[in-house]
Amino acid sequence: MMMVPVSLTDQLMPGTLEYAIHRLIEERIDTSSFDAAYANDERGRSAYDPKVLLKVVLFGYSRGILHSRRIERACKENITFIALACGQAPDHSTVAAFVSSMGQEQIVDLFTQVLLVCEEEGLLGGTHFSLDGLKLSSNASKEWSGKHSDLKKKHVNLRKKVTEAIAEHQQADRHGNDPDGQRREQRIKRLEQKADRIEKFLAQNEPKTGKRGKEIQSNVTDKDSAKMTTSHGVVQGYNANAVVDGQHQVIVHAEVFGDGTDSTAMAPLLEGTRRNLEAIGKEAPLKDKIVSADTGYFSTTNLQACEDAQVDAYVPDPKFRERDVRFADAKRHRRPTDKHKLKYKTKSRFSNDDFHFDDALGKLICPAGNALYIKNRNFSTKDGYESIAYQAPAKICRACPLRAKCLQNPDSKYGRQIHYKKDQRPGSLIDQMREKIDTQLGRKTYGKRLAIVEPVFGNIRACKGMDRFTLRGKLKVNLQWMLYCLVHNLGKIAATPAYAPAA
Ligand code: SF4
Repeated sequence: MMMVPVSLTDQLMPGTLEYAIHRLIEERIDTSSFDAAYANDERGRSAYDPKVLLKVVLFGYSRGILHSRRIERACKENITFIALACGQAPDHSTVAAFVSSMGQEQIVDLFTQVLLVCEEEGLLGGTHFSLDGLKLSSNASKEWSGKHSDLKKKHVNLRKKVTEAIAEHQQADRHGNDPDGQRREQRIKRLEQKADRIEKFLAQNEPKTGKRGKEIQSNVTDKDSAKMTTSHGVVQGYNANAVVDGQHQVIVHAEVFGDGTDSTAMAPLLEGTRRNLEAIGKEAPLKDKIVSADTGYFSTTNLQACEDAQVDAYVPDPKFRERDVRFADAKRHRRPTDKHKLKYKTKSRFSNDDFHFDDALGKLICPAGNALYIKNRNFSTKDGYESIAYQAPAKICRACPLRAKCLQNPDSKYGRQIHYKKDQRPGSLIDQMREKIDTQLGRKTYGKRLAIVEPVFGNIRACKGMDRFTLRGKLKVNLQWMLYCLVHNLGKIAATPAYAPAA
């Protein structure tokens, strides 16, 4: 037998994240907005202090422990969690209720308080902001997605299966002893529950429409989430965006969108950044400041938002590297299959750049010198760009010697089609941005984006292990994303001299 004295305070060593979380929440952060929900009355067990709950949740998130049952277990088994919880062991339902009952105002208040500490510790530069997004899976299944017509079909099929299963069950019943009876009953119950769920969803929700006004897929489990294509395949989830300050990579604003494209995200992100920075006492925090974002954000809507917010934006178009002499031989690193595709692509087809406008004639002229006619003045591309669709007369293309280089299928009986985006005319915002990015200063400034924002997402996803959302609904998922970003910022504070071990 041995008695080992354990000092819980000594478990929280200066210079560590747990120490920073403990000190900030005990001494610096005002958590009074949580107190009302955790007040003790004459009945029942004493409520846990919200400070304790907040500390274990934030520390759990920093270790990739997102589930309340795992946090509960850690509070019993892990000495750092025990120290943060002051020896208490909140159960999973208390932890889950604490996280999901957090309101938008509470989390924004918490976020700005931490941002204020970052400002006081000299972590905010306020001159260059970079933004980016990350598509993360949410607590919803892809299988429960579809347009309303698909869901109706699924509902009909489920009802049919229920009828068949009941008939099968009744027939088996008539033959006396049925060893599979219980299993069949459970299956019927499950099928009925699924059918009821879809029926309820269809009755309560209108079809979801996309940016082009057409119906897009809805999700029965989480109606705010969307199917998104990522480098790891298609996920059902949210597009989590963050705006990062260039000096010490502190996140100044975080927001999720139930939309896989970034083409309209700039305005809400800039607005959120302005609000957060004003809340910590900065005046006109974005005026004339540099904002850089990758090509995903290159759209007229986003560039207009930058113009309205009076920021010095650097958002390149998808072809900016092709015009950059420094990347002239970048394609040598491509895999053989990509190289083959690239060769095939460039060899077989003229691009939009090979066509030009004849201002005198007011026509679009093809490389063979023939005029194209306007097929549709109000064409909308897949990415949502308003365009003009031009088409070459089929008769001319059929006799053209350049058809092998121009048409995707040289045997096609149709003429070449070109979509010319309306806002890409000379002098447009898009045109101005292209010119700005192609300057030496533009390339140098944009080059900093990678070093500012990408490590932040690497830290959140790979180092901290926060790689999926466990809550449902945009409001709660947004709250969880802000908690992830808060943990990242706390990590920055933990590394400052004020929270470091005494020399
Ligand atoms: S194929 Fe048609 S559009 Fe293309 S270059 Fe020839 S005539 Fe012009």
